[in-house]
Amino acid sequence: MYPTVDPLAPAGVAPTGISRRSFFRFAAGASALASLPILTEAHLAYADRPKFADPNKGIHIDANENPMGPCEAARQAMVNIIPRGGRYLFTGEEELAELFAKQEGLSPESVIPFAGSSEPLHFTVLAFTGKDRPLVIADPGYEAPMWAAKVSGAQIFKVPLADPKGEAKHDVKAMLAAASNPGVIYICNPNNPTGTCTPRSDIEYVVANAPKDTVILIDEAYIHLCDAPRSIDFVKEGKNVIVLRTFSKLYGMAGIRMGFAIGRPDLLAKITPFGGMNALPITAVVAAKASLLDPDLVPTRKKIIADTRVETIAWLKSQGYSCTPSESNCFMLDVRQPGKQVQAALAAKEMYVGRIWPAWPDSVRITVGTPDEMMAFRKDFTSVMSGSTAGLVLPKMPRRLEETPFRHMS
Ligand code: PLP
Repeated sequence: MYPTVDPLAPAGVAPTGISRRSFFRFAAGASALASLPILTEAHLAYADRPKFADPNKGIHIDANENPMGPCEAARQAMVNIIPRGGRYLFTGEEELAELFAKQEGLSPESVIPFAGSSEPLHFTVLAFTGKDRPLVIADPGYEAPMWAAKVSGAQIFKVPLADPKGEAKHDVKAMLAAASNPGVIYICNPNNPTGTCTPRSDIEYVVANAPKDTVILIDEAYIHLCDAPRSIDFVKEGKNVIVLRTFSKLYGMAGIRMGFAIGRPDLLAKITPFGGMNALPITAVVAAKASLLDPDLVPTRKKIIADTRVETIAWLKSQGYSCTPSESNCFMLDVRQPGKQVQAALAAKEMYVGRIWPAWPDSVRITVGTPDEMMAFRKDFTSVMSGSTAGLVLPKMPRRLEETPFRHMS
């Protein structure tokens, strides 16, 4: 029903020298090795920037990061552990998994900590998709699973979001109908880039009606930012579900790196052979623990981000623009012209937004930054939209990330 797609279509700008080095530190000849790097939001956002952007200059609301950074308790925990940095301290990882499992009413064997959720996302797709086991994903949706499917050789079925002008939710019935024997159906809730949630009843429907050996990968990277029902109970019920969590979003630890794969132990056992048994940085482990133990962190930050998002979207609406009804730290803004133009014009002012999804070429993803950043965004957006972007010289057509020299260049 849905054509298979080339995941490389939502391509990015090729690196243009020294400035992009640190974002593409991958083994030489990645394609020759029949493997592709694990791509994170940072790689995808960075690759799509119209020009090199020094992360220390300008305003960066293009990678769904959290400008608040780690909470105070996490910062202190990291400082305190530094003198012990000469040790591996494996027990810290176990304690972290146990703490999270206890808080969520899970068995500790159902939780594996990783350095962020990109690794378990990639490994789950590698483990459960393949030549005859496609990946089914929503469109627009987070692209990282497609890159992993490129490695496993799986067909990819992109299924448009249902009600794109309204709820913009996963079209679960169409996703189930897309392929007869999918290895993985990926549900991102809330969805990146729209920030929209898929109702619980729809997620229940996929879990109940998927073929018996299909894994439903539920990515809850942004779940702390909304009130939507969580999906961990599917794991408790023994369903074919793997849930991903990360400390990169609400917890402000994208650069520190910590996340969890949550699933039945027999499912998790299939993803660990791909990686993940490496020791984790003890700083990240203690910061994650301290964050989980801070009872005010989630509600406080959820409110701060929601208030800024609501104000920004209300202002955009008052200016006549429509946005997706996001419950997260990002939303899609319909700019009624090629999004690339607006992205480039804003980048010229060192206001970095994006990226653009091929399925919605006239929309640009906006990450919710600090209130000050969003006020600056309003100013620059007003100026860009009141001027003409027609004469703007656009960057050359992006080369595919596939062609990126994934070399260690530093
Ligand atoms: N899943 C989604 C939907 C994301 O947007 C991201 C990052 O933005 C990730 C997973 C991976 O994040 P990390 O590896 O930092 O946990």
